[in-house]
Amino acid sequence: MRVQAIRERLEALGALPEHQRRVLRDWVQAAPHERGRRRPADYLPRPVREALPALDRELDGLARLVSSHPAEDGSARLLVALGDGQAVEAVLLPRDGVCVSSQVGCAVGCQFCMTGREGLLRQVTSGEIVAQVVLARRQRPVKKVVFMGMGEPAHNLEHVLEAIELLGVEGNIAHKNLVFSTVGDARAFERLGQGAVKPALALSLHSTDPALRARLLPRAPRLSPRELVEHGERYARLSGYPVQYQWTLLDGVNDSPAEMDGIVDLLRGRYAVLNMIPYNTVPGLDFRRPGWERARAIAAGLHARGILTKLRDSAGQDVDGGCGQLRARAGRGIALRRA
Ligand code: SF4
Repeated sequence: MRVQAIRERLEALGALPEHQRRVLRDWVQAAPHERGRRRPADYLPRPVREALPALDRELDGLARLVSSHPAEDGSARLLVALGDGQAVEAVLLPRDGVCVSSQVGCAVGCQFCMTGREGLLRQVTSGEIVAQVVLARRQRPVKKVVFMGMGEPAHNLEHVLEAIELLGVEGNIAHKNLVFSTVGDARAFERLGQGAVKPALALSLHSTDPALRARLLPRAPRLSPRELVEHGERYARLSGYPVQYQWTLLDGVNDSPAEMDGIVDLLRGRYAVLNMIPYNTVPGLDFRRPGWERARAIAAGLHARGILTKLRDSAGQDVDGGCGQLRARAGRGIALRRA
């Protein structure tokens, strides 16, 4: 269900824009309609009030928790069932963040990603994206939403932008704490700059060598790393937030001195931060995680050369850490049980 469809349904019941906003605000903030002395009878027309219980049930059905897998770092991986029995993953992050999925599967086919293996199965609707945040908020406070779960947000742009707008306007989430993460897409760069809510931007770089990047991300748009950074820089200046360049560090693949020179060449002087994330080994995929000390030395070397570099571990390392693994293990079971 689209967020816009919820608005239209409320409008058909006689809800004015302010009434629609209130109902949507309660939902996205995971707040009860009745708070203290504030009761729906005081602020909603009767047909809307009468329709609320059924609507709430429907919204609850957009994303249901199947299982939660807490990790030692304070994060928790959630396996989430959508209304039709498909499953996606969301991750509760330390420090009040949640990572949401924007597609079931993904068409980009990154060689090191489990989600990319099954291709794109379907889009996640804007309502289902927001519902993942609501699900998270029922467990913990959420002040940050990153679109780094399953899927490529630029391939589901209308729904992702609709969700971002609702989260940024009614969801009480600072715009810089909404993070649109993409492999790069010219149309997405254009649209992000036009929105009322301008999210922060994360760009999956992974290599400065165009041929290697094309091999690692086989169906990403054919933008060269330099073109990608030019787009990113323009958006960073427009939005006022630095671009977060993502670099999954793969042992023996993109950790060479030549790559580090390439990073310095591309990113020095840019309004940017480089997030270096040592690969999380996935059974069945032919990539290795570099040692932590080596990763630390690489990050320190870049920092010394003027690149603001943060070495990060992917959340939930100890519980099926790679995105797509929970679904790969359990998702088909959900679909079968529901069929
Ligand atoms: S890393 Fe992201 S863009 Fe690449 S295949 Fe996986 S989900 Fe898709």
